Amino acid sequence: MRFDVLTLFPQMFDAVLGDSIIGRARENKLLEMNFIDIRDFTLNKHRKVDDYPYSGGGGMLMNPQPVYDAYMFVAKGLDYKPLTIYMSPQGKVFNQTIAADLSKEKHIVLLCGHYEGIDQRVIDEIVDMELSVGDFVLTGGEIPAMTVIDTVSRLIPGVLSAETSYENESHFNGLLEYPQYTRPAEWHGVSIPDVLISGHHANIEKWKREQSLINTLKKRPDMLEKAELTKEDKEFLNKCINGER
Ligand code: SAM
Repeated sequence: MRFDVLTLFPQMFDAVLGDSIIGRARENKLLEMNFIDIRDFTLNKHRKVDDYPYSGGGGMLMNPQPVYDAYMFVAKGLDYKPLTIYMSPQGKVFNQTIAADLSKEKHIVLLCGHYEGIDQRVIDEIVDMELSVGDFVLTGGEIPAMTVIDTVSRLIPGVLSAETSYENESHFNGLLEYPQYTRPAEWHGVSIPDVLISGHHANIEKWKREQSLINTLKKRPDMLEKAELTKEDKEFLNKCINGER
């Protein structure tokens, strides 16, 4: 899968996406990432990329021309339009379902704004969707773009090692993950749950499902409304709510 990021701060990306799991996947050519400096496409000698908004109100706005030319640098010569996403607090709020959909794309362009944002005309011309990382405002789209790239990348087959699966992780199946423990089996006087060392596979799976339901009920009860729950899940949750568990 290929990502191209249009940004004023390309140097920010390798620090986050150059190491560990994502860095290895890039080395192994499972992921291609290009960080394109919008400033390289300015036509003025000071490499200025912003100007005052016509609406006033303070702050600066990114000019359309360098953004468009940076985009065309990526898109020119392709026989398809890469899915182009503007990272924006006005966008749809990013989540695991959107990440799963994006992981099926072959090529995504992420546009990062800065200052007060970007001239609307270039957004209208090149952008297919806007994505937000939450209902708050950051200084720039770089951290949101890294969030999207990291989340989507780990869903690409082969990026996570065979023993690391995301299927049990929080949000994958609409629930939060169960609590996890590693060695030692007793720490600060607290032992891990007996079932985990029982060797009884079915009981361990049952425990995981129940703990996942309890975790979601306690921390994110709103998620239970949309989660796919079995009859057993519902009965178990009712017992928890009635204090019987
Ligand atoms: N004036 C804009 C508004 O009110 O919608 C906010 C501009 S913000 C200070 C600068 C840039 O940061 C935006 O162009 C966008 O790329 C990025 N940004 C800020 N908050 C974001 C969020 N929650 N999700 C995604 N991108 C965000």
